[in-house]
Amino acid sequence: MPLDTSFRKQILATVERFVNERVAPRAAELDATDRFPSDLYREAAGLGVFGLWVPEEYGGIGPDMVTPLLISDVIARVSPSFALIFSNCGDAVTPLVNFGTAEQKKWLLPGIASGAIIPCFVLTEPGAGSDAASIVTQARAVDGGYRISGRKMWITNGGVGDVFTVFAKTDPEAGNKGISAFIVERGAEGFTIGRNEDLIGLRGCPTTELIFEDVFVPADRMLGEKNRGFKIAMSTLDEARLNCSAMALGAATGALQCALDYAKERVQFGKPIIEHQGLAFLLADCAARLTGSRAIWQRAMTALEHERTREASTLAAMAKLLCTETAMRVTTECVQAMGANGLSKAYPVERFMRDCKPFEVFDGTSQIQKLLIGRHLEKYGLPEVAASEIAALGIAAQ
Ligand SMILES: Cc1cc2nc3c(=O)[nH]c(=O)nc-3n(C[C@H](O)[C@H](O)[C@H](O)COP(=O)(O)OP(=O)(O)OC[C@H]3O[C@@H](n4cnc5c(N)ncnc54)[C@H](O)[C@@H]3O)c2cc1C
Repeated sequence: MPLDTSFRKQILATVERFVNERVAPRAAELDATDRFPSDLYREAAGLGVFGLWVPEEYGGIGPDMVTPLLISDVIARVSPSFALIFSNCGDAVTPLVNFGTAEQKKWLLPGIASGAIIPCFVLTEPGAGSDAASIVTQARAVDGGYRISGRKMWITNGGVGDVFTVFAKTDPEAGNKGISAFIVERGAEGFTIGRNEDLIGLRGCPTTELIFEDVFVPADRMLGEKNRGFKIAMSTLDEARLNCSAMALGAATGALQCALDYAKERVQFGKPIIEHQGLAFLLADCAARLTGSRAIWQRAMTALEHERTREASTLAAMAKLLCTETAMRVTTECVQAMGANGLSKAYPVERFMRDCKPFEVFDGTSQIQKLLIGRHLEKYGLPEVAASEIAALGIAAQ
């Protein structure tokens, strides 16, 4: 059930206060140390935000699609890395909410909602990224359950995760129709948390290798139906793409605000640099692109919340493509607008720029979004303007 507007506003105001008072002073430190901020995670949990994806009967206040996306935007304006630490919970918990048995939900959801359990979504492998159906991690049927063997890569929050939704082949010959999902706990015999990657950005949010060596998983830890795991994995992607868009927009907004403040203060050739038309045009271009990208994000979010149609899915892909590419461009221009200071760690814009690059890669690269949009165009033509939007413009629907 979506939250009512006044409750949503109340949560956003609380989060905004927390972000300004607690996250902002730590943002540069997360980047510099690349260390997961357990204390901030616990404090965020205390605000109830991890319960937004979880139904009330399991200890949450949701599920609500839009509020977490708005929160990601707010957090990313100061720390895209902490925005990902927060929002990855949504990607990881949603399959449990949608496909878990009552026992699985009773076991895990209250702990995830309270922040005591950190969940992870485990699909990608060294040889299988964009082509996720080509995973080779296997789950072999044995007495009482399955044994999982394989290696996973780039798993967000993997180094600190407690419970892992792992996708593995139960029928290796059947392509994407031979994949199943399993719930694996940290500490299971044969399960090793590997190294954390040393990434360009989003530092402080661990991105981790996971190794499975004949890990026994009881039969009742299978999530959803056997061989239907690929559908489970793909079902989270629309929201994940809107979340990636939210973080990209937040980061670009944070960078642009910083560059704008700087341009009003910095004097060259006898006047603030914003009064030089060439520089004002650069910032104007950034503001226009950012506002346009924000509009498509809002449209895709509204469409998806209203109904999970093919069109809504394509809009989510468009939003992901435009918002992440805009954020990369805007943050790069903001570095330029600040000259040498833009390159310095004394200001946050170089961090925002580094943080934005991964947004063009995960939850489907820009090329994969274009592939999806292209397929839509080929099969169904241009996404139609919804009748409600036409009505809002005062034009009679045809
Ligand atoms: C910060 C971060 C967090 C992540 N978190 C998770 C997580 O929690 N769980 C998880 O399972 N995975 C996670 N991933 C993995 C992520 O989903 C993959 O990195 C992504 O899907 C791309 O796969 P790849 O890196 O193997 O690139 P590849 O698929 O090898 O792509 C390499 C290049 O080829 C292009 N390409 C590939 N196929 C095509 C095509 N058909 N047409 C045109 N171009 C193509 C791509 O666009 C890209 O430019 C994360 C990655 C990062 C960077």
